[in-house]
Amino acid sequence: MRRVGGKSRQSASRVILFLGAPGSGKGTQSSWLSGQLGIPSLSTGDMLRAESKRNTAAGLKLRKILASGSLVDDEMVCQAVSSRLRLELPARGIILDGFPRTLRQAECLDRILSDLGIAGPVVVHLDLPNGDVSRERLISRMTARRQCGVCGSIYNLMSRPSSLGMLCEKDGGVLLQREDDQEAVIRRRFTEFDLSCAPLVEYYKRADYHRVDGDRDTEVVAAEVLAIAGPAETSAAA
Ligand code: ADP
Repeated sequence: MRRVGGKSRQSASRVILFLGAPGSGKGTQSSWLSGQLGIPSLSTGDMLRAESKRNTAAGLKLRKILASGSLVDDEMVCQAVSSRLRLELPARGIILDGFPRTLRQAECLDRILSDLGIAGPVVVHLDLPNGDVSRERLISRMTARRQCGVCGSIYNLMSRPSSLGMLCEKDGGVLLQREDDQEAVIRRRFTEFDLSCAPLVEYYKRADYHRVDGDRDTEVVAAEVLAIAGPAETSAAA
């Protein structure tokens, strides 16, 4: 496996990827970091959810997989992600939220990076060191999560309710619950994560791999993430 040294971190195009259990904050941290660094972020979950809304046999099949909490098959994910990566990577790099999730996907990413002559990824693993206690808290938070069907804004019935009840404050869109945010499905997503995470950590741990305690305030986690993945000059000085 390629080792990423300080030099390659300074190349114009970089890949930062987030590993972490459902609800560990991958989406929040990657969007925030994207704004900070001016690098686009790609959530495979969002991408697959959009695909699943198509009124085709493939869309319906995808909808069923997502609603069950299992992983979508590698071939399909790699195919969907590859074209986007080949297009976007050379310009500014990318922040990946939810990809790769399996060894085959990690190998697919490596092939693309190697074809494009781009250094291996900076891997940020948002870990939950408090185990089951953190998970039970996450489950409560995730089952209370609601999203505007129009603009995608996220609310939470407990910690961030909309002042308009079940309507979005920005555009009056109806707030919906993700089908896979039901408790039983969340538990299945955790199980999938547990099965796939260890081999990925093993795969990446000799490279530019960083474990971050994700069970803290968002701002605290974000500061640590920025120190790890921030601009090359900052990383070099740190
Ligand atoms: P979370 O990580 O919180 O479970 P995501 O939005 O990242 O939420 O993913 C939602 C679902 O999308 C997953 O349960 C899985 O079915 C599918 N998915 C997302 N990314 C991948 C991937 N890289 N490989 C396979 N399935 C994926």
